[in-house]
Amino acid sequence: MQMKTPGLYIHVPFCQSRCGYCDFYSITQTDLMPEYLVALQREMGWYRDKFESFDTVYLGGGTPSLLRPGRVGDLIDAIRKAFVILPGSEITCEVNPADLNREDLKDLHDLGINRLNIGVQSFSDGELLMLGRRHNRMQAVAAFEDACSAGFENIGLDLIYCLPGQSLSMWEENLRQALDLRPAHLSCYELELKDHTPLGQRLAHGEIVQPGEDTQREFFLRTSEILETAGFIHYEVSNFALGMNHASRHNQKYWDHTPYLGLGPSAHSFDGAGRWWNHASLEHYLGDLREGCAPVAGSEVLDREALYSEALLLGFRTRRGIDLNEIRRRFGRDLLSEHAQVLERFSREGLITIENDFLRPTRAGMSVADGLARL
Ligand code: SF4
Repeated sequence: MQMKTPGLYIHVPFCQSRCGYCDFYSITQTDLMPEYLVALQREMGWYRDKFESFDTVYLGGGTPSLLRPGRVGDLIDAIRKAFVILPGSEITCEVNPADLNREDLKDLHDLGINRLNIGVQSFSDGELLMLGRRHNRMQAVAAFEDACSAGFENIGLDLIYCLPGQSLSMWEENLRQALDLRPAHLSCYELELKDHTPLGQRLAHGEIVQPGEDTQREFFLRTSEILETAGFIHYEVSNFALGMNHASRHNQKYWDHTPYLGLGPSAHSFDGAGRWWNHASLEHYLGDLREGCAPVAGSEVLDREALYSEALLLGFRTRRGIDLNEIRRRFGRDLLSEHAQVLERFSREGLITIENDFLRPTRAGMSVADGLARL
């Protein structure tokens, strides 16, 4: 079987300040950027034999736009020296709306970055303040418009819903403002507050209240309905594209078991049979690479059963759904005959459709995707 072309993820672990809900690894000590970039190049050296070429590159974080175009250019040069980036590759950079002006964005475009993901999160200044974001609504709109003028055609906006105190109509207003801009892609994530985050603490102490489970589902269904009516394809639980040519090619690799290499602190990698992940500590990461070691914190081998369970879970989260022939070929399992009764019930309840050897979640099915995968 021909190996699918892998994707490359680079975790840029710097943020100017920490948002109150954030669970990603990042630090505010930006003076470590030069050392981090040198370490990344060393880390690339570890994987030259294992991963030769990529057709997607994703600069995520953290806040990659804090590197400014100069350092992003150095990083892209280093990637191109270490690996083959195939012609026509999708190269994405996450951007904070407060960081870059039109000229900076034009510089990013000239570097070959052809997809931007702007971390808008909300178009309400009150909500942005509550989340601890360092930009406001006007900066978010300006960042999108500047990116368009800089030549970007493939621009995604990230939004978060189910915020404490947010009503459905407040969220709908966010969606309306996003649609006014007509981005090519929208990611709408439900806010999940972990206990160790500042907002998670406030939730635990009863100082803020999040919408309950039924309301969360209502937000989800309404989001899907509004965006699909506006012409977007709801291609994954949290992701919407204005045509599948604008769907994130990189993220789709995570959902269909295509290998990917993750570099930088806390980044995860997958080679088709197992996963490994780096230390979620820049200090530890730099130390290991200085001493000539790979900065890997842990790894796991995925046996056939684990890969099968994951394939179901990931499949139920995507509009493409589960390719029954592929499941038969990869795992020797016949889902339709093994789970005939449950699947019949899911279908009767309007949660899935079974057509042309594909088992697909409906909108209602996507809202309970994790439950469907438990079969
Ligand atoms: S900018 Fe992003 S990565 Fe940084 S703290 Fe905020 S949510 Fe987390």
